[in-house]
Amino acid sequence: MRRGLVVLALVLAQWSAGTVHAAEARAVQVLVSFSILADVTREVGGDLVAVRAIVGPDRDAHVYQSRPSDLAAFSRMDLVVTHGLGFDPWMGRMIEVTQFAGPVVVASAGVVPLRVGNAVDPHAWQDPRNVMMYARNIAAALIALRPDATQAIHARSERYIATLSALHAQFESTLGSLPAEHRRFVTSHDAFGYLAHAYGLEVIAPQGWSTQSQASARTVAIIIDQLRTHQVRAVFLENMVDRRLVDRIAREGGVVMGSRLYSDALAASGSPADTYVGMMRHNLAQLGEALSK
Ligand SMILES: [Zn+2]
Repeated sequence: MRRGLVVLALVLAQWSAGTVHAAEARAVQVLVSFSILADVTREVGGDLVAVRAIVGPDRDAHVYQSRPSDLAAFSRMDLVVTHGLGFDPWMGRMIEVTQFAGPVVVASAGVVPLRVGNAVDPHAWQDPRNVMMYARNIAAALIALRPDATQAIHARSERYIATLSALHAQFESTLGSLPAEHRRFVTSHDAFGYLAHAYGLEVIAPQGWSTQSQASARTVAIIIDQLRTHQVRAVFLENMVDRRLVDRIAREGGVVMGSRLYSDALAASGSPADTYVGMMRHNLAQLGEALSK
């Protein structure tokens, strides 16, 4: 009898351990292209999702080369989230190569793209209102996979969208009061077009929309000339880009080097900029301080 109870207890212990594992396994496995999408997916999905980012914090998605471990991950995924607007074209190639047959959501679907001629600026997340669209798209994809959790996902995404709306209002109030001649700044690659467009700033960048392009000597010379003749308030570093180019521009243009802006990647975990909202608040504080001087 006693022996029987011990066996029963062991069986129960194993059974409960098994259910814990089953509960973990039920998390929707989501593969995203880069760190900002990982954060938005976690905000919307909470405990329902387990998220893996191909390009992590402080890494540059423009120069990503596919790795075998990333390709192998596709087979374990329930959902793949790409950014779109030409930011992560390698995702499409990886989906093709791995023959991933599950749902693929394009986070930026529905965003009004910023264009110069036929070219589209991919950095739409620099306007928080666009990230509201990302949250809605990701929420819809998660609800399709987990209809039983519709209410929870909806509640989380609406709460997050309210936070983004408050963030947008903060940008408007801080940057809206800057005088006209305090609205120009330099970064190394042209990642802040949406921010500039939304809040009336002007960005000068020696590299184009991708860090893959090298700034020509002529472009750098033109920018240094602009620094001397125009009212440029600050030169900023970016977290995932080599600082030598902007260092030189600041030095030769006689402009004080401002601090760091987060452009295409979050900071490593533990930093205030390790979430999208945190990174945007950090950027706003730096811009507000440097441009108001
Ligand atoms: Zn970029």
